[in-house]
Amino acid sequence: MATGCDVAPGASAGTVASTGDVGQTAASDGLHRGRCFCGTVEIEAKGTPLEMGYCHCSSCRSFTGAPLNAFTLWKAEQVRVVRGEEHLGHFNKTGMSDRQFCTKCGGNVMTGHPGLGFTDVFAAILPSVKFEPSVHLNYADTVLPIHDGLPKLRDFPAHAGGSGELLPEDPQLF
Ligand SMILES: [Zn+2]
Ligand SMILES: [Zn+2]
Repeated sequence: MATGCDVAPGASAGTVASTGDVGQTAASDGLHRGRCFCGTVEIEAKGTPLEMGYCHCSSCRSFTGAPLNAFTLWKAEQVRVVRGEEHLGHFNKTGMSDRQFCTKCGGNVMTGHPGLGFTDVFAAILPSVKFEPSVHLNYADTVLPIHDGLPKLRDFPAHAGGSGELLPEDPQLF
């Protein structure tokens, strides 16, 4: 039975065809397939992500409207748009993050980092990728503290140009 914010109360399974019918495992060709909320934009990611985690920065929060952003990080060449590229909108506020969304439904799809050669795909867009977070980024900005024992970085890792500084899980201790 389909559930969720876009399923009418009492709707039987199958009434909302676009909800919940994306496979939960990668296809035999090793490709992970994803699509925007309305299905117009489809993407593919090949192989395994370089990193997975959560970003707490205020930019991710205000772009997504969520208290944090669960990301999967890929080399740019691992990810491609399969369909609906003409409906993929771009907004790059600072030159660092090319935030991409469907212009029909407004759903977030992914964020390119052109200078770095990486692409962040929202974890929810790729249901067949087993989400195994290893890090929290920009925890200095957190509005939703998480007690999961994973490292909490003030900003970014040192190898990615950040401070590499670790913060305690409880913001009152910052
Ligand atoms: Zn869409
Ligand atoms: Zn962020």
